[in-house]
Amino acid sequence: MDLKSAKKIVNEAEKALTNAQLAYVENDALFRRNFNTWFGKTTKASIEDVVYTLALMGGEIKHDNFRIELGAPSGSENANVLHFKKKYLHGREPVDQIWRANKEDADAGNPSPMTFRPQMLMMPFIDQTQQSQVETFLHELAHFAAGVIDYNPPSCYDVSGTNYCKLQGVDIAVRNAENVGFFIQSFLFE
Ligand SMILES: [Zn+2]
Repeated sequence: MDLKSAKKIVNEAEKALTNAQLAYVENDALFRRNFNTWFGKTTKASIEDVVYTLALMGGEIKHDNFRIELGAPSGSENANVLHFKKKYLHGREPVDQIWRANKEDADAGNPSPMTFRPQMLMMPFIDQTQQSQVETFLHELAHFAAGVIDYNPPSCYDVSGTNYCKLQGVDIAVRNAENVGFFIQSFLFE
């Protein structure tokens, strides 16, 4: 893993995010199909939650509000990030207000660090049947940008983890980082 491959991952993830946001506006059938696959049955609130998460995540990439570090191996960890200050998220504040708070930190020389571990290289670049590099980045970005959590770890990880969270209900699934990562990545497979 070098910074160039890290950049490639971020670019591909940004493409997936854009595709997902476009599908929401222009292709309801596709958006709902991928939603059903990775989160379960739609509700109005759960769709709104996901659309808000997509907007937050896209904005953090666009504003360059985090910094990627290449870390040494650490147990079974693939990557990690410092979680976003969740106090901003309880009232669903306007996304630009949240980006601005993160941007102030970034401009002050404290962009939130995201660490990619060497194990990231062992994964496929994109894949819908197991964890991938792009999906893992999206997972970490969901933590940072939208305060999305790891629900009852380690049950929540990998494709089996997304199914576990789906079984807990759509409101849990849309707030689990692995489901969010796989959902967004799925828009690269159209
Ligand atoms: Zn996580």
